[in-house]
Amino acid sequence: MTPAERLRELAIRHAAFTWLDRQRAAGKETFTQEDTTGLQLAGETIRLMPTQQGIWKPGQLAAAPAVRTVYRPDGADRPYDDAVGTDGFYRYKMRGDDPNHFENRALREAMIERLPLIWWLGVQGGGYSALYPIFLVGEERPDLQFVVDIDAVPQPDIVWPSVELELDPSYRQQLTKIRLHQRPFRAAVLRAYKTSCAVCSFRHSDLLDAAHIHEDSTGGRPVITNGLTLCKMHHAAYDRQILGITPDYEVRINSDVLAEVDGPMLRHGIQEFHGQQLMVLPERRTQRPDRLLLDQRYQAFLTAG
Ligand SMILES: [Zn+2]
Repeated sequence: MTPAERLRELAIRHAAFTWLDRQRAAGKETFTQEDTTGLQLAGETIRLMPTQQGIWKPGQLAAAPAVRTVYRPDGADRPYDDAVGTDGFYRYKMRGDDPNHFENRALREAMIERLPLIWWLGVQGGGYSALYPIFLVGEERPDLQFVVDIDAVPQPDIVWPSVELELDPSYRQQLTKIRLHQRPFRAAVLRAYKTSCAVCSFRHSDLLDAAHIHEDSTGGRPVITNGLTLCKMHHAAYDRQILGITPDYEVRINSDVLAEVDGPMLRHGIQEFHGQQLMVLPERRTQRPDRLLLDQRYQAFLTAG
């Protein structure tokens, strides 16, 4: 790809992200094929979602600008959980079993040129949410898959084609990964715990959070093993070091709080969990909380107590 070709690919992608930013700012959360067809982006008429397959390679572009994963109610093959490797990176399967199929080559081109992509994620009830910008950072040919980085950071060598295409604030905000991966993380963590608080098994999803064990503000990754489904109260108690969780999945309550005398909420909601095992854990061992991360967090709890 020549530098001019790469700039054109970048310009179209950036226009696509800007369009998505605006749609989302207006409250649109999910997109259909129809929504993303016939868009005018950087002077060209482009479709942003594939019609049939997972990988999208429009005729005008040399590299794939988007991939798609359909919604599967049984949780199989969803990008948010099963596709997370032990390194914390996601995986996207190639099409078929030929790494040189033209669609796989179009993805490889995006990887080699470090071009950002959109990952369309099917959601329950129809439509797709958009995860962007993502980057392909590696290839595992024996497993027929690409390694995906969704914690996108600005690529130092990207020179935006014109002043008009300067990054707008909402896009910058996404690049600082504030809410980019929040929804997939939440969805994955809640599903792993069957939508129940790990501490008390409370099951009302509106009052459940996907808590980070290692806080994302200090570099914790949005992977299931760094997550816990907690109800609002236990999440707040965990964050304020009132409640700790040992690497053996046992709940501890801060000794001061344990000694307090208050009403039934304190007694039944907090104190009675002291010394209890977590009530809910993911069935799959590979999805259970990372003991090392729990231990680090637990040491902080002990220090604070
Ligand atoms: Zn709870």
